[in-house]
Amino acid sequence: MQFFSMAVIPGDGIGPEVTNEALKMIKKVEELHGGMKFYSEHFEWGCDYYLKNGRMMPENGLEILKDFDVILFGAVGAKTVPDYISVWELILPIRQKFQQYVNLRPIKLLRGMESPLRYKNHEDLDFVVIRENTEGEYFNSGGRVHEGTPYELAMQNSVFTRFGMERILNYAFTLAEKRKKKSLTAATKSNAINFTMPFWDELVKEISGNYPGIKTQLYHIDALAAYFVSRPEEFDVVVGSNLFGDILTDLGAAIVGGLGISPSGNINPERAYPSMFEPIHGSAPDIAGKGIANPIASIWSIGLMMDHLGHDHIGKLIVDSIEAVLVDGNIRTPDLGGTATTVEMGDAIISKMAQLAVGHNL
Ligand code: NAD
Ligand code: MN
Repeated sequence: MQFFSMAVIPGDGIGPEVTNEALKMIKKVEELHGGMKFYSEHFEWGCDYYLKNGRMMPENGLEILKDFDVILFGAVGAKTVPDYISVWELILPIRQKFQQYVNLRPIKLLRGMESPLRYKNHEDLDFVVIRENTEGEYFNSGGRVHEGTPYELAMQNSVFTRFGMERILNYAFTLAEKRKKKSLTAATKSNAINFTMPFWDELVKEISGNYPGIKTQLYHIDALAAYFVSRPEEFDVVVGSNLFGDILTDLGAAIVGGLGISPSGNINPERAYPSMFEPIHGSAPDIAGKGIANPIASIWSIGLMMDHLGHDHIGKLIVDSIEAVLVDGNIRTPDLGGTATTVEMGDAIISKMAQLAVGHNL
């Protein structure tokens, strides 16, 4: 029997609603596989916790999490707490302290889904964005002075280290070597951001020398955003800084069916710390509590978790099950044009998986 420990942080808004469906998927995986067991512990951290305790997680929160194999995360954010607090006191410390420097975000048009981009099909839309997840623009450094006066000013520092860039670029190039198109696109903005981005460009060029089989290109982030829409078939592995990767992946999600679908892995490839799996979307206060959030992003995140834990065939089976339900087409949440609830959508995927698993050796 293989045991994994999993910390579950459902968080705020639709976080708990979609996380419930992901947990049902974990149960199904255990049942179908038979030789894998998750020991899970739940932590009710988030904005409600903040309102009671004045912090998003306990002081020793990271200490509590550090020995788990994986973390399943829902979403943070509520109108009652400023977003920069909820984000900076929960999700970003986990990503940064646990050196989850790879934020892996597949941008893939699943079968059964139509892209809002006319004439683009499943072969055209199948790439991965690798977002640097520990430094760059999301670095807790800056200041704000003379508040409320005409002289008020704010400064925010971005930090790019050789160490941080080399490790994310090596990860991205290695991934590109395993994929079909053997191409890597790096997001830059070295015309206007004239210290950090030229450094990034130089390292991309330097490291590309170690991966001669990979076609490498650098695009300015503004042009790249346009190309995501006009010629997405060009992309295979796209690598970018923390902010650029964040923005590109919401755009990426939109061209393959929306935020309700898109998963992510916050990965520490060295496995020195837990890796964390979560939808890329936030707490969606506009639909929270209605039971209509799409659980696909959260369920697909379990697929990425399985890949990370060395069970790629289960990861693939999860994606196949989601696709099969989308192809059937009767069960869809409102964001996909249907009337199904979160629970109905989750149940449909899980029972589809039980069907597809027949005859598979998991
Ligand atoms: P959001 O992703 O929560 O929502 C954007 C839009 O997408 C909304 O219209 C929402 O209804 C829709 N949407 C998102 N997930 C969906 C799902 N599963 N099914 C159907 N529709 C879905 O982004 P936002 O509105 O900018 O932010 C809301 C809150 O979430 C803020 O407090 C923000 O700081 C936080 N946030 C947290 C994370 C995170 O936890 N990692 C990420 C992004 C935003
Ligand atoms: Mn985001």
